[in-house]
Amino acid sequence: MPEKDKNQQEGPDVRDNLIRISVGGETVFVDANQYKAKNAGQTAKPRKMKRQPKNPKPGEWISEDYSKHKIADYKPFNFVDGEGVRCSLYVSGCLFDCPGCYNLAAQNFNYGRPYTQELEDQIIADIGQSYVQGLTLLGGEPFLNTWVCNRIIDRVRAEYGHSKDIWSWSGYTWEELLRETPDKVEMLKKLDILVDGRFMDNLKDLTLQFRGSSNQRIIDVQKSLKTPDLHPVIWDKLQR
Ligand code: SF4
Repeated sequence: MPEKDKNQQEGPDVRDNLIRISVGGETVFVDANQYKAKNAGQTAKPRKMKRQPKNPKPGEWISEDYSKHKIADYKPFNFVDGEGVRCSLYVSGCLFDCPGCYNLAAQNFNYGRPYTQELEDQIIADIGQSYVQGLTLLGGEPFLNTWVCNRIIDRVRAEYGHSKDIWSWSGYTWEELLRETPDKVEMLKKLDILVDGRFMDNLKDLTLQFRGSSNQRIIDVQKSLKTPDLHPVIWDKLQR
């Protein structure tokens, strides 16, 4: 057998939970667990952080800086965007960038067609049908399109008072909206129902009523505004 090179490092020899390592004729014993933990760190691949939705500071995103007053879609007489039969206006543009967003195209502020007087008159006429319960505002981000949303809300109230209800979906939470710019707070205060919060892919649950992930809440806006500390009050018809 050829003689071993004295400078060669021998592979570890594990006995009684000690590892014997020989380097250049010197032999040392180290704890096996410590040795494995130290070396595991050298070989483990760095973990990728999952992308999260954006978190704006209060007032960071100004609606009129971004909104092009565009509409991604208008769906009259649908049953899925809230309680009862509803007319839904999908505004264009959103900055939250939630991974797994259900409406990627509508994140673009330039997507779709302009909001016009003609469209507004059509929406008002559709909502006037006796079987329609109300208007739903979603997107995109309605609170980054406050010019359009406040305008249609005011028209619905002027024509129908509170005989029709108004729902909105938002990536902002209730607490965030209360600290937002006056146009957003004004819009919030005129709603009946807010479905709040970003879509969180890791909390996705398709069995939830009117929501995509379990962090989102269905908030009764008018009841919440009457609480002393503006605490969010959950819609009393929530089933799940
Ligand atoms: S808030 Fe809604 S529209 Fe905006 S990125 Fe998230 S899921 Fe999409």
